[in-house]
Amino acid sequence: MNMVLPAWIEIDLAALRHNVGQLRDRVGGDVEIMAVVKSDGFGCGAAITAAEVMAAGADSVAVGNPEDARAIRGAGIKAPILLYASTLPGAAAEVAALDVTATVHDMESLAAFAALNQPLDVQFKIEAGLGRLGVSPDDWRAAFEAVRSSNNLNLTGLYTHLNAPDDPDSIKRQIAQFEASYGMAQSLGFSDLRRMVASSNVVLGYPELNYDAVNAGRLLFHMLDGKWAQMIQTRPVIAAVKSSIIQVKDFPAGARVGFLGGEELVEPTCLAVLPIGFGDGFKHRPPLGEVLVRGRRAAIVGRRGIEHTVVDVSGAADARVGDEVVLLGAQGNEEITGTEVGAWLDLPLMEILPRLARTLPRVYLGQS
Ligand SMILES: *Cc1c(COP(=O)(O)O)cnc(C)c1O
Repeated sequence: MNMVLPAWIEIDLAALRHNVGQLRDRVGGDVEIMAVVKSDGFGCGAAITAAEVMAAGADSVAVGNPEDARAIRGAGIKAPILLYASTLPGAAAEVAALDVTATVHDMESLAAFAALNQPLDVQFKIEAGLGRLGVSPDDWRAAFEAVRSSNNLNLTGLYTHLNAPDDPDSIKRQIAQFEASYGMAQSLGFSDLRRMVASSNVVLGYPELNYDAVNAGRLLFHMLDGKWAQMIQTRPVIAAVKSSIIQVKDFPAGARVGFLGGEELVEPTCLAVLPIGFGDGFKHRPPLGEVLVRGRRAAIVGRRGIEHTVVDVSGAADARVGDEVVLLGAQGNEEITGTEVGAWLDLPLMEILPRLARTLPRVYLGQS
Protein backbone atom coordinates (compact mmCIF):
# COMPACT_ATOMS: atom_id res chain seq x y z
CA MET A 1 0.00 0.00 0.00
CA ASN A 2 1.55 3.24 -1.10
CA MET A 3 -0.15 5.96 0.91
CA VAL A 4 1.35 9.32 1.73
CA LEU A 5 0.55 8.59 5.35
CA PRO A 6 0.82 4.83 5.71
CA ALA A 7 -2.02 3.81 8.05
CA TRP A 8 -5.17 2.09 6.86
CA ILE A 9 -7.82 -0.52 7.49
CA GLU A 10 -8.71 -3.42 5.20
CA ILE A 11 -12.36 -4.42 4.87
CA ASP A 12 -13.07 -7.86 3.44
CA LEU A 13 -16.38 -7.71 1.60
CA ALA A 14 -16.12 -11.38 0.59
CA ALA A 15 -16.14 -12.19 4.31
CA LEU A 16 -19.27 -10.07 4.75
CA ARG A 17 -20.99 -12.03 1.98
CA HIS A 18 -19.78 -15.30 3.50
CA ASN A 19 -21.27 -14.27 6.84
CA VAL A 20 -24.63 -13.51 5.23
CA GLY A 21 -24.47 -17.03 3.77
CA GLN A 22 -23.78 -18.47 7.22
CA LEU A 23 -26.82 -16.65 8.58
CA ARG A 24 -28.93 -17.88 5.65
CA ASP A 25 -27.87 -21.46 6.38
CA ARG A 26 -28.88 -20.91 9.99
CA VAL A 27 -32.34 -19.41 9.44
CA GLY A 28 -33.37 -21.21 6.25
CA GLY A 29 -34.91 -19.82 3.10
CA ASP A 30 -38.29 -18.71 4.44
CA VAL A 31 -37.13 -16.18 7.01
CA GLU A 32 -36.40 -12.63 5.88
CA ILE A 33 -32.87 -11.52 6.62
CA MET A 34 -32.94 -7.85 7.51
CA ALA A 35 -29.23 -7.09 7.70
CA VAL A 36 -28.34 -4.34 10.12
CA VAL A 37 -25.85 -1.90 8.57
CA LYS A 38 -26.31 0.83 11.16
CA SER A 39 -23.69 3.27 12.37
CA ASP A 40 -22.36 3.62 8.81
CA GLY A 41 -22.23 -0.13 8.33
CA PHE A 42 -20.48 -0.59 11.69
CA GLY A 43 -17.89 1.82 10.39
CA CYS A 44 -17.38 -0.05 7.12
CA GLY A 45 -19.63 2.18 4.99
CA ALA A 46 -23.44 1.95 4.95
CA ALA A 47 -23.92 1.98 1.17
CA ILE A 48 -21.20 -0.48 0.22
CA THR A 49 -22.10 -2.94 2.96
CA ALA A 50 -25.81 -2.65 2.09
CA ALA A 51 -24.96 -3.50 -1.53
CA GLU A 52 -22.85 -6.48 -0.50
CA VAL A 53 -25.33 -7.98 1.97
CA MET A 54 -28.07 -7.72 -0.64
CA ALA A 55 -25.81 -9.35 -3.24
CA ALA A 56 -25.26 -12.17 -0.75
CA GLY A 57 -28.96 -12.86 -0.28
CA ALA A 58 -30.21 -10.54 2.45
CA ASP A 59 -33.77 -9.34 1.86
CA SER A 60 -33.63 -5.88 3.40
CA VAL A 61 -31.46 -3.66 5.57
CA ALA A 62 -31.88 -1.66 8.76
CA VAL A 63 -30.16 1.55 9.79
CA GLY A 64 -30.51 3.89 12.72
CA ASN A 65 -29.31 7.13 11.18
CA PRO A 66 -31.21 8.88 8.37
CA GLU A 67 -27.86 9.81 6.81
CA ASP A 68 -27.09 6.12 6.36
CA ALA A 69 -30.43 5.64 4.60
CA ARG A 70 -29.63 8.64 2.41
CA ALA A 71 -26.24 7.18 1.52
CA ILE A 72 -27.78 3.83 0.59
CA ARG A 73 -30.41 5.43 -1.62
CA GLY A 74 -27.79 7.80 -3.02
CA ALA A 75 -25.82 4.78 -4.21
CA GLY A 76 -28.87 3.62 -6.16
CA ILE A 77 -29.62 0.66 -3.89
CA LYS A 78 -33.30 -0.25 -4.01
CA ALA A 79 -33.35 -2.61 -1.00
CA PRO A 80 -36.13 -2.10 1.52
CA ILE A 81 -34.76 -0.06 4.44
CA LEU A 82 -36.09 -0.03 7.98
CA LEU A 83 -35.10 3.14 9.81
CA TYR A 84 -34.88 2.68 13.56
CA ALA A 85 -36.23 5.46 15.76
CA SER A 86 -33.75 8.32 15.84
CA THR A 87 -35.42 11.56 14.82
CA LEU A 88 -37.62 14.31 16.22
CA PRO A 89 -41.34 14.47 15.39
CA GLY A 90 -40.60 17.66 13.44
CA ALA A 91 -38.43 15.69 11.01
CA ALA A 92 -41.22 13.32 9.95
CA ALA A 93 -41.38 14.74 6.41
CA GLU A 94 -37.62 14.38 5.92
CA VAL A 95 -37.82 10.78 7.13
CA ALA A 96 -40.66 9.98 4.75
CA ALA A 97 -38.69 11.50 1.86
CA LEU A 98 -35.93 8.92 2.40
CA ASP A 99 -38.04 6.10 0.95
CA VAL A 100 -37.77 3.96 4.08
CA THR A 101 -40.08 2.09 6.40
CA ALA A 102 -40.21 4.39 9.40
CA THR A 103 -40.34 3.36 13.03
CA VAL A 104 -43.14 4.46 15.32
CA HIS A 105 -41.76 4.32 18.84
CA ASP A 106 -44.35 6.36 20.74
CA MET A 107 -47.58 8.33 20.30
CA GLU A 108 -45.77 11.50 19.35
CA SER A 109 -43.82 9.94 16.51
CA LEU A 110 -47.03 8.29 15.36
CA ALA A 111 -48.93 11.59 15.33
CA ALA A 112 -46.14 13.27 13.36
CA PHE A 113 -46.08 10.59 10.67
CA ALA A 114 -49.89 10.48 10.52
CA ALA A 115 -50.00 14.24 9.88
CA LEU A 116 -48.03 13.88 6.63
CA ASN A 117 -49.70 14.10 3.25
CA GLN A 118 -47.95 11.10 1.79
CA PRO A 119 -48.27 7.35 2.15
CA LEU A 120 -45.70 5.84 4.48
CA ASP A 121 -44.94 2.29 5.59
CA VAL A 122 -44.28 2.08 9.31
CA GLN A 123 -43.39 -0.59 11.82
CA PHE A 124 -44.08 -0.31 15.52
CA LYS A 125 -41.14 -0.74 17.83
CA ILE A 126 -42.68 -2.44 20.85
CA GLU A 127 -41.40 -1.75 24.35
CA ALA A 128 -40.84 -5.20 25.77
CA GLY A 129 -38.31 -4.61 28.51
CA LEU A 130 -35.25 -2.92 27.03
CA GLY A 131 -36.47 0.33 28.54
CA ARG A 132 -35.21 2.44 25.69
CA LEU A 133 -37.45 3.20 22.73
CA GLY A 134 -40.76 1.56 22.01
CA VAL A 135 -44.55 1.91 22.19
CA SER A 136 -45.47 1.22 25.81
CA PRO A 137 -48.19 -1.30 26.69
CA ASP A 138 -50.44 1.50 27.96
CA ASP A 139 -50.37 3.05 24.50
CA TRP A 140 -50.75 -0.04 22.32
CA ARG A 141 -54.50 0.18 21.83
CA ALA A 142 -54.46 3.88 21.06
CA ALA A 143 -51.53 3.43 18.69
CA PHE A 144 -53.16 0.63 16.71
CA GLU A 145 -56.37 2.62 16.50
CA ALA A 146 -54.56 5.76 15.44
CA VAL A 147 -52.66 4.01 12.69
CA ARG A 148 -55.85 2.41 11.45
CA SER A 149 -57.69 5.70 11.31
CA SER A 150 -54.84 7.53 9.61
CA ASN A 151 -55.15 8.22 5.89
CA ASN A 152 -51.55 7.62 4.99
CA LEU A 153 -49.87 5.08 7.28
CA ASN A 154 -49.48 1.41 6.41
CA LEU A 155 -48.46 -0.68 9.41
CA THR A 156 -46.37 -3.58 8.10
CA GLY A 157 -44.95 -5.13 11.23
CA LEU A 158 -43.98 -5.15 14.88
CA TYR A 159 -40.47 -5.51 16.19
CA THR A 160 -38.58 -5.30 19.42
CA HIS A 161 -35.02 -5.56 20.65
CA LEU A 162 -34.43 -8.14 23.38
CA ASN A 163 -31.90 -7.00 25.93
CA ALA A 164 -30.88 -10.06 27.92
CA PRO A 165 -29.89 -12.96 25.64
CA ASP A 166 -27.94 -14.50 28.54
CA ASP A 167 -31.12 -14.83 30.58
CA PRO A 168 -33.75 -17.20 29.08
CA ASP A 169 -36.34 -16.23 31.73
CA SER A 170 -36.05 -12.59 30.80
CA ILE A 171 -36.32 -13.47 27.11
CA LYS A 172 -39.47 -15.44 27.90
CA ARG A 173 -41.03 -12.50 29.74
CA GLN A 174 -40.15 -10.07 26.96
CA ILE A 175 -41.52 -12.38 24.29
CA ALA A 176 -44.76 -12.72 26.27
CA GLN A 177 -45.06 -8.94 26.28
CA PHE A 178 -44.24 -8.70 22.58
CA GLU A 179 -46.80 -11.43 21.83
CA ALA A 180 -49.40 -9.51 23.83
CA SER A 181 -48.97 -6.53 21.52
CA TYR A 182 -49.29 -8.79 18.49
CA GLY A 183 -52.41 -10.39 19.95
CA MET A 184 -53.97 -7.00 20.49
CA ALA A 185 -53.15 -5.98 16.91
CA GLN A 186 -54.81 -9.12 15.62
CA SER A 187 -57.88 -8.57 17.75
CA LEU A 188 -58.12 -5.10 16.23
CA GLY A 189 -58.05 -6.50 12.72
CA PHE A 190 -54.37 -6.28 11.72
CA SER A 191 -54.04 -9.71 10.19
CA ASP A 192 -50.76 -9.76 8.29
CA LEU A 193 -48.22 -7.99 10.47
CA ARG A 194 -44.66 -9.23 10.32
CA ARG A 195 -42.87 -9.98 13.57
CA MET A 196 -39.15 -9.54 14.23
CA VAL A 197 -37.25 -9.84 17.51
CA ALA A 198 -33.98 -11.60 16.71
CA SER A 199 -30.75 -9.63 16.80
CA SER A 200 -27.48 -11.56 16.50
CA ASN A 201 -27.37 -13.23 19.91
CA VAL A 202 -31.04 -14.16 19.73
CA VAL A 203 -30.62 -15.76 16.29
CA LEU A 204 -27.82 -17.87 17.72
CA GLY A 205 -29.33 -18.72 21.09
CA TYR A 206 -33.06 -18.87 20.39
CA PRO A 207 -33.73 -20.14 16.86
CA GLU A 208 -37.40 -20.56 17.78
CA LEU A 209 -37.64 -16.74 17.80
CA ASN A 210 -36.80 -16.18 14.15
CA TYR A 211 -40.45 -15.32 13.37
CA ASP A 212 -40.87 -13.68 9.95
CA ALA A 213 -37.58 -11.81 9.89
CA VAL A 214 -34.30 -11.71 11.75
CA ASN A 215 -32.42 -8.50 12.42
CA ALA A 216 -28.74 -9.29 12.78
CA GLY A 217 -25.88 -6.82 12.65
CA ARG A 218 -22.80 -7.73 14.66
CA LEU A 219 -22.95 -11.35 13.58
CA LEU A 220 -22.57 -10.32 9.93
CA PHE A 221 -19.61 -8.08 10.75
CA HIS A 222 -17.89 -10.66 12.97
CA MET A 223 -18.22 -8.40 16.00
CA LEU A 224 -19.60 -10.83 18.57
CA ASP A 225 -17.66 -11.48 21.74
CA GLY A 226 -17.15 -14.49 23.96
CA LYS A 227 -19.32 -17.58 23.66
CA TRP A 228 -21.57 -16.00 21.03
CA ALA A 229 -18.67 -15.72 18.61
CA GLN A 230 -18.15 -19.47 18.91
CA MET A 231 -21.70 -20.28 17.83
CA ILE A 232 -21.31 -19.53 14.12
CA GLN A 233 -18.44 -19.67 11.66
CA THR A 234 -18.18 -16.07 10.54
CA ARG A 235 -15.06 -14.42 9.17
CA PRO A 236 -13.60 -11.03 10.10
CA VAL A 237 -14.92 -8.24 7.90
CA ILE A 238 -12.43 -5.81 9.35
CA ALA A 239 -9.58 -8.00 8.25
CA ALA A 240 -6.58 -5.85 9.02
CA VAL A 241 -5.28 -2.62 10.46
CA LYS A 242 -1.89 -1.76 9.05
CA SER A 243 0.76 0.90 9.09
CA SER A 244 4.42 1.19 8.14
CA ILE A 245 7.54 2.03 10.11
CA ILE A 246 8.67 5.62 9.49
CA GLN A 247 11.68 5.53 11.84
CA VAL A 248 13.89 2.93 13.52
CA LYS A 249 16.32 4.03 16.20
CA ASP A 250 18.56 2.37 18.81
CA PHE A 251 18.56 3.73 22.34
CA PRO A 252 21.20 2.79 24.96
CA ALA A 253 20.36 1.46 28.40
CA GLY A 254 19.68 4.36 30.70
CA ALA A 255 18.16 6.61 28.01
CA ARG A 256 15.08 8.49 29.16
CA VAL A 257 12.50 8.47 26.44
CA GLY A 258 9.65 10.97 26.47
CA PHE A 259 6.90 8.75 25.24
CA LEU A 260 7.71 6.24 27.96
CA GLY A 261 6.61 8.92 30.36
CA GLY A 262 10.19 9.74 31.20
CA GLU A 263 10.95 6.17 32.13
CA GLU A 264 14.48 4.94 31.89
CA LEU A 265 15.26 2.16 29.43
CA VAL A 266 16.68 -0.80 31.36
CA GLU A 267 18.30 -2.41 28.32
CA PRO A 268 19.54 -1.17 24.97
CA THR A 269 16.33 -0.93 22.97
CA CYS A 270 15.49 -0.54 19.29
CA LEU A 271 12.30 1.47 18.87
CA ALA A 272 10.24 1.88 15.73
CA VAL A 273 7.66 4.61 15.14
CA LEU A 274 4.34 4.12 13.31
CA PRO A 275 2.20 7.06 12.16
CA ILE A 276 -1.01 5.76 13.73
CA GLY A 277 -2.32 6.75 17.13
CA PHE A 278 -5.26 7.09 19.46
CA GLY A 279 -6.65 9.74 17.14
CA ASP A 280 -7.26 6.84 14.77
CA GLY A 281 -9.46 5.07 17.33
CA PHE A 282 -6.91 3.26 19.47
CA LYS A 283 -6.17 4.01 23.12
CA HIS A 284 -3.69 6.25 24.88
CA ARG A 285 -3.00 4.45 28.16
CA PRO A 286 -1.42 1.02 28.50
CA PRO A 287 -1.98 -1.83 28.25
CA LEU A 288 -1.78 -1.42 24.48
CA GLY A 289 -0.66 -4.87 23.37
CA GLU A 290 1.46 -5.87 20.43
CA VAL A 291 1.89 -5.49 16.67
CA LEU A 292 3.46 -7.72 14.03
CA VAL A 293 6.76 -6.68 12.47
CA ARG A 294 8.48 -9.02 10.01
CA GLY A 295 6.15 -11.80 11.13
CA ARG A 296 7.07 -11.43 14.79
CA ARG A 297 5.30 -9.88 17.74
CA ALA A 298 6.60 -6.56 19.00
CA ALA A 299 5.29 -4.83 22.13
CA ILE A 300 3.83 -1.33 22.01
CA VAL A 301 5.75 0.79 24.51
CA GLY A 302 4.80 3.75 26.66
CA ARG A 303 1.66 5.69 26.05
CA ARG A 304 0.30 5.94 22.58
CA GLY A 305 0.32 9.38 20.98
CA ILE A 306 -2.59 10.91 19.13
CA GLU A 307 -0.80 10.25 15.83
CA HIS A 308 1.99 7.84 16.74
CA THR A 309 2.61 4.39 18.15
CA VAL A 310 6.07 3.28 19.31
CA VAL A 311 7.02 -0.38 19.32
CA ASP A 312 9.98 -2.26 20.69
CA VAL A 313 11.57 -4.00 17.70
CA SER A 314 14.64 -5.20 19.60
CA GLY A 315 13.48 -8.73 18.77
CA ALA A 316 13.28 -7.91 15.07
CA ALA A 317 16.70 -6.35 14.52
CA ASP A 318 16.19 -6.38 10.77
CA ALA A 319 13.21 -4.00 11.03
CA ARG A 320 13.51 -1.14 8.54
CA VAL A 321 11.78 2.06 7.57
CA GLY A 322 9.00 1.11 5.18
CA ASP A 323 8.25 -2.27 6.74
CA GLU A 324 4.54 -2.98 6.82
CA VAL A 325 3.30 -3.42 10.39
CA VAL A 326 0.11 -5.26 11.32
CA LEU A 327 -1.88 -3.94 14.28
CA LEU A 328 -4.77 -6.32 13.54
CA GLY A 329 -4.69 -9.26 11.16
CA ALA A 330 -2.17 -11.76 9.88
CA GLN A 331 1.48 -11.47 8.85
CA GLY A 332 3.60 -14.50 8.07
CA ASN A 333 2.59 -17.24 10.46
CA GLU A 334 1.41 -14.85 13.17
CA GLU A 335 -2.00 -13.31 13.63
CA ILE A 336 -3.45 -10.69 15.93
CA THR A 337 -7.20 -11.23 16.14
CA GLY A 338 -9.83 -8.64 16.89
CA THR A 339 -10.60 -10.52 20.07
CA GLU A 340 -6.99 -10.11 21.17
CA VAL A 341 -7.00 -6.38 20.41
CA GLY A 342 -10.31 -6.00 22.24
CA ALA A 343 -8.90 -7.79 25.29
CA TRP A 344 -5.76 -5.63 25.34
CA LEU A 345 -7.79 -2.45 25.14
CA ASP A 346 -10.59 -3.79 27.36
CA LEU A 347 -13.21 -2.89 24.74
CA PRO A 348 -15.87 -5.06 23.08
CA LEU A 349 -15.35 -5.68 19.37
CA MET A 350 -18.47 -3.74 18.47
CA GLU A 351 -16.90 -0.67 20.05
CA ILE A 352 -13.28 -0.77 18.93
CA LEU A 353 -13.63 -2.10 15.38
CA PRO A 354 -16.20 0.40 14.05
CA ARG A 355 -14.22 3.20 15.66
CA LEU A 356 -11.06 2.17 13.82
CA ALA A 357 -12.95 1.71 10.56
CA ARG A 358 -14.59 5.11 10.81
CA THR A 359 -11.33 6.90 11.40
CA LEU A 360 -8.75 5.24 9.18
CA PRO A 361 -8.68 5.26 5.39
CA ARG A 362 -10.64 2.21 4.23
CA VAL A 363 -9.34 -0.23 1.66
CA TYR A 364 -12.00 -2.60 0.35
CA LEU A 365 -11.12 -6.13 -0.66
CA GLY A 366 -13.29 -8.64 -2.52
CA GLN A 367 -15.98 -6.25 -3.74
CA SER A 368 -18.67 -8.13 -5.69
C1 LIG B 1 -28.47 -2.89 16.67
C2 LIG B 1 -29.85 -3.41 16.63
C3 LIG B 1 -30.08 -4.72 16.19
C4 LIG B 1 -28.96 -5.65 15.80
O1 LIG B 1 -28.22 -6.03 16.93
P1 LIG B 1 -26.92 -6.95 16.74
O2 LIG B 1 -26.56 -7.33 18.11
O3 LIG B 1 -25.90 -6.08 16.08
O4 LIG B 1 -27.31 -8.08 15.87
C5 LIG B 1 -31.40 -5.16 16.13
N1 LIG B 1 -32.42 -4.35 16.47
C6 LIG B 1 -32.23 -3.08 16.89
C7 LIG B 1 -33.40 -2.24 17.26
C8 LIG B 1 -30.94 -2.57 16.99
O5 LIG B 1 -30.75 -1.31 17.40
